[in-house]
Amino acid sequence: MEVASDFESLLHRWHSLHRELDSAGVRLVAVSKYASDEAVACLVDAGQKDFAESRPQALRNRARSWPVCAWHMIGPVQKNKAKYIGRYASIWHSVEDIEIAGQVARYVEGRVLPVLLQVNVTGNPRQHGIAVDEVTQLFEQINSMAQLRVDGLMCMASRDADARAAFRHLRCLRDELFGGSLGSLCMGMSGDYRIAIEEGATIVRLGTALFSDRCA
Ligand SMILES: *Cc1c(COP(=O)(O)O)cnc(C)c1O
Repeated sequence: MEVASDFESLLHRWHSLHRELDSAGVRLVAVSKYASDEAVACLVDAGQKDFAESRPQALRNRARSWPVCAWHMIGPVQKNKAKYIGRYASIWHSVEDIEIAGQVARYVEGRVLPVLLQVNVTGNPRQHGIAVDEVTQLFEQINSMAQLRVDGLMCMASRDADARAAFRHLRCLRDELFGGSLGSLCMGMSGDYRIAIEEGATIVRLGTALFSDRCA
């Protein structure tokens, strides 16, 4: 009984988020890192295509279970986990290191792996991502690899800072780098996705707002 009603509210949240984001032309990535396999299966059945995981092994396991979906890698990647990303990720959001990118590229076979550069727009030393003044260089380095292609930029706003300013900054960087609005702009999580959409996000990453009952 409890499980069924959980999924009922999950589906209700998914439908309403899906409607909202669809009408804004924004891609919804379901961040399933804390979600059960049952909850993932429920959304797959409903028609959700994009999911994100923050741990390479979890990404591999779920990509094997649901190969029809796109599995997005959103967490830090260590060298010894590079193979899981190269083999199983549909998109890799958290690129911040040329060496790790080179390791991942070694495992990409018969395709080109689209990636996003994670930018530390707030300059907060506790946050992941490359510094703003390193973006152009990493962009060129990654695009010189045959197996990887930079599709856009990604950031996380810090909780205590101005999210809108961070998103606006990332959008400017994207416009400069891609010469207009062609590159993806992946920004916005449960707490700030509406601001991100106002600032031009093309992809949002939602965990809590989708999977948690405590978040309306
Ligand atoms: C966990 C996570 C999310 C989802 O966060 P919510 O606030 O639960 O929506 C989004 N992006 C990244 C990089 C994450 O690690």
